[in-house]
Amino acid sequence: MDENATPTPTDFVRQIVADDTKSGKWDGRVVTRFPPEPNGYLHIGHAKSICLNFGIAREFGGTCHLRFDDTNPTKEEDEYVLAIQRDVRWLGFDWGEHLYYASDYFDQLHAWAIQLIQAGKAYVDEQTSAEIRASRGKLASRGVESPHRDRPIAENLDLFARMTAGEFEEGTAVLRARIDMEAPNQHLRDPVMYRILKASHHRTGAKWCVYPMYDWAHGQSDSIEKITHSICTLEFREHRPLYDWYLDTLGVYHPQQIEFARLNVSFTVMSKRRLLNLVEEDLVRGWNDPRMPTISGMRRRGYTAEAIRHFAAIIGVDTTESTVDVALLEHCVREDLNKRSPRFMGVLRPLRVVIENYPEGRTEEVDAVNNPEDPAAGSRKVPFGRVLYIERDDFMEDPPKQFFRLAPGREVRLRYAYFVTCTNVVKDPATGEIVELRCTYDPATKGGDSPDGRKPKATLHWVSAEHAVPAEVRLYDHLFTREDPDEVAEGQGWRANLNPRSLETLTGCRLEPALGDLPVESRVQFERLGYFCVDPDSKPGAPVFNRTLTLKDEWARLQKKGKTA
Ligand code: ATP
Ligand code: MG
Repeated sequence: MDENATPTPTDFVRQIVADDTKSGKWDGRVVTRFPPEPNGYLHIGHAKSICLNFGIAREFGGTCHLRFDDTNPTKEEDEYVLAIQRDVRWLGFDWGEHLYYASDYFDQLHAWAIQLIQAGKAYVDEQTSAEIRASRGKLASRGVESPHRDRPIAENLDLFARMTAGEFEEGTAVLRARIDMEAPNQHLRDPVMYRILKASHHRTGAKWCVYPMYDWAHGQSDSIEKITHSICTLEFREHRPLYDWYLDTLGVYHPQQIEFARLNVSFTVMSKRRLLNLVEEDLVRGWNDPRMPTISGMRRRGYTAEAIRHFAAIIGVDTTESTVDVALLEHCVREDLNKRSPRFMGVLRPLRVVIENYPEGRTEEVDAVNNPEDPAAGSRKVPFGRVLYIERDDFMEDPPKQFFRLAPGREVRLRYAYFVTCTNVVKDPATGEIVELRCTYDPATKGGDSPDGRKPKATLHWVSAEHAVPAEVRLYDHLFTREDPDEVAEGQGWRANLNPRSLETLTGCRLEPALGDLPVESRVQFERLGYFCVDPDSKPGAPVFNRTLTLKDEWARLQKKGKTA
């Protein structure tokens, strides 16, 4: 991207940033931040926020901070901190030296809390959390003031100091902002600023036993970092008056909070709590299970960072909540993989084929095109011999009318090789299962063309039995059977919508030799079967492939029918 070009705003957030840059509101500075809580792995929704925040910084010559919002020691772990950094980098973004932690600001936040107490704007409340919740009232009704609300400042200072020193048990006292229990906006009804948590923090250890609430930490962290545009999801719109109140009351630097609609994708869940359930209950194989909507899962599945960034760009940014069809995400991935993936042949469910008129012991090599979308990718040699494997699905003993692939007496083309005709079917006498096909080949059709213009109706992929690499291949389907996994039948939870067929593991697959030792994460197309990616479970000589996606583009089909908005 040309760093000096003035970008044309493509959404309302970029429009605001462009206007501010023009008016000099922030002295021309653009500073955004991506503020994940390290309590889980990043998902495709986060990717939208990352592309927005880092994208704006890049386009406007600003900076984007990566800030860990680590204010809850009970749920946060270093594993997540590392995974988040890895995923942001993999997506193609760089925070440079701007890596921050809300926990680095605990001292400053604490000092500011004391400042609010001294100004009569905060007080220690010893009601239970249930009492506090009840006294805050409902939307329609006003809240009720705490009996502790008008304590003298000196008493509040003393109590808060003792809370901080660990003299009180969890749940026995909180520090609350003293705003307005009758405010129409419930967030302004004396929100909790600090609670007692006697937990060890992943960075500050045992130093603290009072921890700031999200709202108290977030805006002030933005302020400390001199953020210009604090971009967050819509549910924080209701929090904005509080964000503003804290900063104005403290009289400190005040960024602008801007809210946009979060991303939802059909057939999956996006809440970190749900994703954690899936992991902890072993409903998937970890955060980077290829079925997960996590960035690391998608990466393992074979999605590219480019495809995810392109997806984020085309879904855009606005202020209406909606669910994006997963077919669109998959379409972006297919388009990208189509351009970049070299083609190979692999047989998932092998059926043995013996070419009876092909000399025993002979092998030859045929030329195969690496990528028809990319002439520079060239071609490769694929070994051919007397014994081959084809796909079990590509043969039917008694084919219906619409089945054009191999059948007794029928001729088909073997991709890049020869025409073959099935002459006999060998079955297991005990089970009746087809175990082998006997065929003949036409030596005049080398390369897949016949001099007499014969055109078989089907072209099959194949591998040479002698040279093939045995492999495990994992096929995936959507993690949930419903577009909206939260739509549940009476008496059932979202787990009931898990797709029992989301993973199918095939062992005994046979692949062309070149697929035997590709590096982990290599992305390829198996002709006719889809896009595949080498899994980290691979061992030398025993590769494991994930099917990223089949070749069938549901989105393109919907587009043709005019069914995409
Ligand atoms: P939870 O699932 O518990 O609500 P969260 O998704 O808000 O957590 P955070 O770690 O706080 O998780 O999110 C970091 C940033 O990513 C926030 O700025 C948040 O607004 C943004 N974000 C989270 N989910 C989405 C989403 N689905 N679409 C767009 N942005 C998101
Ligand atoms: Mg959050």
